[in-house]
Amino acid sequence: MKQELNKIVKPIVKWYQKQEKELPWKQDKEPYHIWVSEIMLQQTRIEAVKKYYTRFMQELPTIQDLADVPEEKLLKLWEGLGYYSRARNLKKAAIQIEQDYQGKMPTTYTELLKLSGIGEYTAGAIASISYNEKVPAVDGNVLRVISRLVASKADVLLPETKRNITKKLLEIMPEEAGDFNEGLMELGEKICIPNTIPLCEKCPVQEFCIANQKKLTTQIPVRIKKQKRKVETKTVFILKYKNQIAIRKRAKTGILANLYEFPNITRNCI
Ligand code: SF4
Repeated sequence: MKQELNKIVKPIVKWYQKQEKELPWKQDKEPYHIWVSEIMLQQTRIEAVKKYYTRFMQELPTIQDLADVPEEKLLKLWEGLGYYSRARNLKKAAIQIEQDYQGKMPTTYTELLKLSGIGEYTAGAIASISYNEKVPAVDGNVLRVISRLVASKADVLLPETKRNITKKLLEIMPEEAGDFNEGLMELGEKICIPNTIPLCEKCPVQEFCIANQKKLTTQIPVRIKKQKRKVETKTVFILKYKNQIAIRKRAKTGILANLYEFPNITRNCI
């Protein structure tokens, strides 16, 4: 696999360097900017993140501002993005940076991993984009691109598949680690797209792609595990008195922790 993958490095770096960098978080390589944008982009579409990111940076332009922001204001800035634990972890990590790193973002993958809410992907993205450390940043886009390039039938939902691809990428990381990682991600977002036929005719590494040669692009990546959805039935009470309406604060932990909701019970009373 190493030999096959080695061939894609230069074309991807070159292709990425020519792409327009119109997104607000691609205007510089400031680690704080990369960090916040990567956290926002988890579970959220790029288009939706743009306005949130811009407003967040206007209100909290430095790590110190993030560490000091009251939780209510932070959650207001995050309102609509969902998965609020991401915002709380950002603040926790900002406090860690103030206390343990003299207010400066750690500069290595290993140190970044120690921060609250920063996992392998985000640490890899920040370390490679901001500091050019030769570490991969493997998200769903990268898993799909690499699986197709080598025509791997391994289930991309399995942690061992991700581990395996990360290991292979580690062996071929170039000096331009950030551009290579961003190139792979962008290729997955724009060209090697999911759930449909990828735009192979526009792909900078088409000539090396085994899934393309074997006409397997719609069968790869393989995703075997199906997540069961939990369905809850609730009765929600709208309690009004004159111009007031009753709301309550949710529990401190769990889904939508500390946010407000209408009073409700977990059963159907209608
Ligand atoms: S040739 Fe097609 S399937 Fe292969 S990496 Fe490029 S876009 Fe993806």
